[in-house]
Amino acid sequence: DFEQVWQDIIAAATPRLPEGAVDIWLKTCVPLEIEDGFLSLDVANDFIKVQIQDRFMKILEETMVDLGYGTGLRLSVGDGENRKEQERAEKTVRPQSSSNISGLNPNYLFSSFVVGKSNRLAHAASLAVAENPGAAYNPLFIWGGVGLGKTHLMHAIGHHALQNNRNLKVSYVSSEKFTNELITSIKNNRTSEFRNRYRTMDLLLIDDIQFLAGKESTQEEFFHTFNSLHNDKKQIVLSSDRPPKDIKSIEDRLVSRFEWGLVTDIQSPDYETRIAILTKKAEFRNYSIPYEVVIYLAQNVPSNIRELEGALNRVIACAELNSEPITVDNASEWLKDIVRNTSRGPVSVDLIQQIVAEECSFSVEDLISSKRTSEIALARQIAMYVCRKHTESSLQQIGLAFNKKDHTTVLHAQKKIEQMLDNNQRVKNIVDNVEKKL
Ligand code: ADP
Ligand code: MG
Repeated sequence: DFEQVWQDIIAAATPRLPEGAVDIWLKTCVPLEIEDGFLSLDVANDFIKVQIQDRFMKILEETMVDLGYGTGLRLSVGDGENRKEQERAEKTVRPQSSSNISGLNPNYLFSSFVVGKSNRLAHAASLAVAENPGAAYNPLFIWGGVGLGKTHLMHAIGHHALQNNRNLKVSYVSSEKFTNELITSIKNNRTSEFRNRYRTMDLLLIDDIQFLAGKESTQEEFFHTFNSLHNDKKQIVLSSDRPPKDIKSIEDRLVSRFEWGLVTDIQSPDYETRIAILTKKAEFRNYSIPYEVVIYLAQNVPSNIRELEGALNRVIACAELNSEPITVDNASEWLKDIVRNTSRGPVSVDLIQQIVAEECSFSVEDLISSKRTSEIALARQIAMYVCRKHTESSLQQIGLAFNKKDHTTVLHAQKKIEQMLDNNQRVKNIVDNVEKKL
């Protein structure tokens, strides 16, 4: 069948392809069908399509002919979309030999990154930037919740770019480290060294840029670093836990620069991706975990990949320490304090208010106040919508909980958010996050 054909082609072509090509570029292709001697492959985006076409197509097609499987390949973007996403998520790859460049974690490679629906665009954009620093998207801005793979991708970009060009000057820093180095340099009268170093990078990766909020002199310095690098067509990659516009207390001129290149987000991994990640992480540790335990973990630790990894590590450690087998019962015992108790009582309006307030960085007081700034009003409407969806409370009860005498306000909020969910990614995000925390 065509799946096997593709596997065979990859296997036979590997010795002729550049090192890493299979893991990084080819394993995320999804074979769709064979027709008239052509094997159709679905690829994640145009960038990857062009790369494969230019760099590997000839060898792949020759191999295909040699094996007697047909005459050629056809690449298409997005045909496989949903139905193939799961398969893509399952295709992962093993880290290559660990290069130990300072500042970069040797485990965070493209080849150890599982690609799924939730991160495929961020992954593709990162690859594009790693292949052509300064040319593809500048800056690349990756945002998403904690533990979803932003840092992993940034390191992967650094490794990959260095692999292509050993002489590239690459630096990965957290924005805290950037701040601290700046402060030290000011204290020691060494600001020109600090500037020199950062402004002569070819690829600068700054993680968790939201921590620059409120730090005016660091922002000022970073502004100049940014301009200098950008002018020279040097690549800048930034990450944050939220989109540029939502980072409070950051100067507008920085926010607008963050949006010059490409802003892309990483979502929480869907169920299939969680399964794929668990399977690969277990495999990587040479551990075989019963499939029902993998499912148990994927179902019960839905929040982020770091926690998922933590849960897996805990299960393996407990099994070893207690010399007990890994079963669903044991796993649920060992993970008692991590796994959410699903038999908890019904969701309350109070709880929803708390969670929405937290998610939108307001206080509950703001949320139930009569303040009307558009951001608070939106958060309030989201909270009302979630209350309608997840509690049994009446319109009047919900209205009262928000100090609204007129219950049509609640109805209006519900309708408005329902409409926005279809076309407003940000609102959808907030609602998703709130529902996850419920
Ligand atoms: P963030 O920076 O977004 O908080 P990290 O990049 O630190 O998240 O990721 C948390 C952990 O999860 C790391 O150990 C990382 O290797 C792992 N991880 C995240 N995304 C993936 C992925 N898609 N495939 C494999 N491991 C992942
Ligand atoms: Mg991080």
